[in-house]
Amino acid sequence: MNFQQIFGNPPEAEASAPGRVNLLGEHTDYNDGFVLPIAIPQKTTVQIGFSNDGQHHFYSQNLDDQVSILEINHTPSGFASYIFGCIQVLKKEGYEIPSLNLYVKSSVPIGSGLSSSAALEVATLRAIRQLLNLPINDVEIAQFAQQAEIHYAGVQCGIMDQMAASLADTEHILFLDTRTLSSRVLPFPAGAEIVVIDSGVPRTLASSGYNQRRAECEQAAQLLGVKALRDITKLEATEDLPEPLRRRARHVVTENNRVLEVLQILETRHVASLQRFGGLMNASHASLRDDYEVSVPALDTLVEMLQKTPGVFGARLTGAGFGGACVALVAKSEGRAIATKVLEQYNHNGYTGRVLVPPTDF
Ligand code: ADP
Ligand code: MG
Repeated sequence: MNFQQIFGNPPEAEASAPGRVNLLGEHTDYNDGFVLPIAIPQKTTVQIGFSNDGQHHFYSQNLDDQVSILEINHTPSGFASYIFGCIQVLKKEGYEIPSLNLYVKSSVPIGSGLSSSAALEVATLRAIRQLLNLPINDVEIAQFAQQAEIHYAGVQCGIMDQMAASLADTEHILFLDTRTLSSRVLPFPAGAEIVVIDSGVPRTLASSGYNQRRAECEQAAQLLGVKALRDITKLEATEDLPEPLRRRARHVVTENNRVLEVLQILETRHVASLQRFGGLMNASHASLRDDYEVSVPALDTLVEMLQKTPGVFGARLTGAGFGGACVALVAKSEGRAIATKVLEQYNHNGYTGRVLVPPTDF
């Protein structure tokens, strides 16, 4: 069913926003550090029009679900909370928002760590901006999207996903300083492309492991007398910390330095540095596995298979770990062949992975 079939008239505006994958800078965001996400080809599209019955109506084609909301009602649950949140945040900012009909369709895998939630928020805000001609910029869109996710969807998230969805595209990597929120958008190196493969391993231990790592980092920062581990740039400073804090801090310090090195590579744009970029992704994986201890055998197996495949510059787990996906930097135009080959090899070992990028379904 399309917009017209659901709402009885055609949409008045339409906007999209992409999912994202983090290329480097893992577990650095809550340490005030640096991240390096890029948009993926899959995107969420929102079509929008005015509702004339005083209620908001949201429809998701992916879920085949429609939710109607009277303004005075409490925040809805589920997918409608993200959209309602965006509307409420705009109202709090002083914008007058009429009752809306809103239709969502998306090719971003939902709940796979490619940030379908931020894509939904940013696409919604862009569609409303276009419909009502609102004077808001892309950084504000990201900030409003994050507020919607925290205060209305109830997810305590950083701002990386929303900034990536709002500022990056498939040709541009976002460098984000999560402390100052200063950001740069840099061209993705010609000669390379990205592969993302889902390990098929659910992230069961993810939330307890994540909270524990956060607490360890806070403890390490406190012992070192700094506000956050971002303030440590020399590895020697971490050497006297008790284990496992020493290794946790070492991951954060080296990971931040890796992101800064890639930033420099992206700025100078030497073709030969793709090897170095890939090497830093490999080093990131080793650090996440050995120092941060957030990998699992399936992710190690998948990453190793990717790293051994000709045409791959580097590979690592992406996201919080304990399951989820791996990302690889590979030679341009070879992504699909590499992904197909590695997936077959990986699934042959008894796993049920799937290729997320390059997308197969469109
Ligand atoms: P991720 O952002 O990694 O995909 P999240 O759990 O953060 O996973 O967000 C997924 C949630 O976002 C879904 O459960 C749903 O509520 C909402 N969502 C995202 N995309 C859509 C969509 N196209 N249609 C409906 N809801 C969506
Ligand atoms: Mg999300």
